[in-house]
Amino acid sequence: MPELPEVEVTRRSVSGVAGARVLGLRMGKPLRWPLGVDPDALVGATAGEFLRRGKYLWLPLQAAATEAGGVQGGGLGGGLLWHLGMSGSLAFGSALAPAGKHDHVELVTDHGTLRLTDPRRFGAVVWSSSLGADPAAKLLSRLGAEPFDLSYTAKQFHAALKDRKVAIKQALLAGDVIVGAGNIYANDALFEAGIDPHTPCSRIGPARAARLLSALRMVLGQAVAAGGSTLRDFRDAHGSVGQYQGQARVYGRGGEPCPRCGGAIERIVQAQRATYFCPACQRR
Ligand code: ZN
Repeated sequence: MPELPEVEVTRRSVSGVAGARVLGLRMGKPLRWPLGVDPDALVGATAGEFLRRGKYLWLPLQAAATEAGGVQGGGLGGGLLWHLGMSGSLAFGSALAPAGKHDHVELVTDHGTLRLTDPRRFGAVVWSSSLGADPAAKLLSRLGAEPFDLSYTAKQFHAALKDRKVAIKQALLAGDVIVGAGNIYANDALFEAGIDPHTPCSRIGPARAARLLSALRMVLGQAVAAGGSTLRDFRDAHGSVGQYQGQARVYGRGGEPCPRCGGAIERIVQAQRATYFCPACQRR
């Protein structure tokens, strides 16, 4: 499943759509949620730069003023909120192969076609009149803090954890304290911070919370720099695979030596998800 680093890598790889004029929007099979706008109403609008919030990508669309002073695109202002779901990926280019059976959205522009390929169809493209209005506001309202937002402090992170009894690994995966720590990154950040994945959030003091926040930022930053992780089928908009999985600290390395102490990395199952950790280096 594309996690925050993969979505950020995708965002950077589709930057060529900024400034493009929309020529049409073609929809294939139904996705997770309906589009919520007449595709023809988008024709003539100009795309802004993609923004990312959590695993959502927001493409602002503005109606273009015509020479006569009127507007094309029905006076529209707003944008499209994209989500890659379990198996989605975006491609962007002016010479894409003909659409296949898993290509369910094509935004055709004068800079090229932006295409969502999503075999499992848990992804979505949804119209919203602004990021602050529904449905976008509702979809984004339960997201935790952005790890790359440096105004978010260790003190705030600690405050958000201290009344929770749940294991820290599960709290990270839930994404309502901080977004972005999908399974691979949660495992590696907890290793980096020396915290046992079973540790109840309430037992993590200010110093360990600060270490964990730094570790999350480091691991997620390294993942973006590596082009994300390709465990199954992730590709960026140019078809490149991610390389992070090859440099993971503990994720996927059950039985292998811990990179810090040389002891064996353990694999357990926690809330139906694989957890990898070093029992010697990570403390409760
Ligand atoms: Zn170790």
